[in-house]
Amino acid sequence: MADYTKDPNLIATHLGDDYDRYLNSIIPPVFMNSLHVLDSIESYTGAAPASRYFYGRVCNPTVEIVEQKIAALEHGKDAVVFSSGMSAATAAICTVCNPGDHVICVRGAYVEHFLRTFGEKKLSISTTFVSGRDLGEFEDAVKPNTTLIVLESPVSLVFHLQDIAGVAKIAKKHGIKTYIDNSYCTPLFQNPLDLGIDMVMHTSSKYLGGHSDIIGGALVCNDEEFMKEIREFRGSYGSIAGPMEAWLTMRGMRTLEPRLKRHQETAMAVAKFLEASDKVRVVHYPGLESHPQYELMKRQQRGSCGLMSFELDVNDDDEKVYKFVHNLEIFQVGVSWGGFESLVCTPLIRGDLKNAQEQGAQGRELVRIHCGLEGTDNLIEALDKALKSI
Ligand SMILES: *Cc1c(COP(=O)(O)O)cnc(C)c1O
Repeated sequence: MADYTKDPNLIATHLGDDYDRYLNSIIPPVFMNSLHVLDSIESYTGAAPASRYFYGRVCNPTVEIVEQKIAALEHGKDAVVFSSGMSAATAAICTVCNPGDHVICVRGAYVEHFLRTFGEKKLSISTTFVSGRDLGEFEDAVKPNTTLIVLESPVSLVFHLQDIAGVAKIAKKHGIKTYIDNSYCTPLFQNPLDLGIDMVMHTSSKYLGGHSDIIGGALVCNDEEFMKEIREFRGSYGSIAGPMEAWLTMRGMRTLEPRLKRHQETAMAVAKFLEASDKVRVVHYPGLESHPQYELMKRQQRGSCGLMSFELDVNDDDEKVYKFVHNLEIFQVGVSWGGFESLVCTPLIRGDLKNAQEQGAQGRELVRIHCGLEGTDNLIEALDKALKSI
């Protein structure tokens, strides 16, 4: 029998689908129920063994299938899925950190806002933010009360990377736990647990779901005791993924590999097209040889996805940036990414330019695009037309 636990395509298509258990249906059902009734009053009181399933805030069979698939894809022993990427991220922080603890976090990471607001004010967790480009920054930021290092590689603004294995080594030396947001790469293009990271987070709202129809998230880890605490936190906090969302994540994951391959092919062609344009000052895409950390990228990633940014060479003229977007067909204005559709946004026109410059943005005319599945030629034609219009 084929081993369904190792190969990503076999994991995504078949692992955990358990045909015997589900009447040979090729697709496992959505367990759309809030509870499972118990065999007897004794199993309720604890006088007889308890059943595995009893209440939907704690566990659900559909949710567990997705957990099995995500854990295997990410080379982890266990995965816990949540109602959003952010609920997975904050569960990790709240489970690791106590009041008074110190966190080191990469600037621009999705949890930056949480750490700066709730983390600081409600949980008394202090944070040092670093660019993440240089290992020395992490070493210098370590304090006696540092308990967690938060990575996101690449960060989704100018797509700079952290040396994941290098940071993991520093953290181990000081007994600090490490966490990474691996949503950009997906488990197909990067496996941080193999590089020594303790916890990997994914949002399934992006490529795992892949169709812009759900919000969800996951944490993956090799420490099964720690994952019990995470499950307990999720149960008390009430942040489990809904069964329908779990089922849709599973459906999206069946085509993750062919979708991602196409997103990458298109993005690579688009990045090269943009790089050759005299209207574009710089393209930020880890797949380009001109990316300042290209060597590191090749060491720790197996690919880059459909998301990138570039800066228009328009001398801080916001009107030209607006004009470019107005004239850009196919790419719709939107904040997310990872779905079938192409998107555009301009995060710095009214955003935090100082923070962005600390990350490596040159100016405010930064355009972020997601290359969807509408066809490479169509996207390049649309970009060409919009560039020519300014
Ligand atoms: C969207 C996103 C998140 C947040 O995920 P939600 O499911 O929206 O909570 C976290 N990290 C990255 C890199 C993202 O793109």
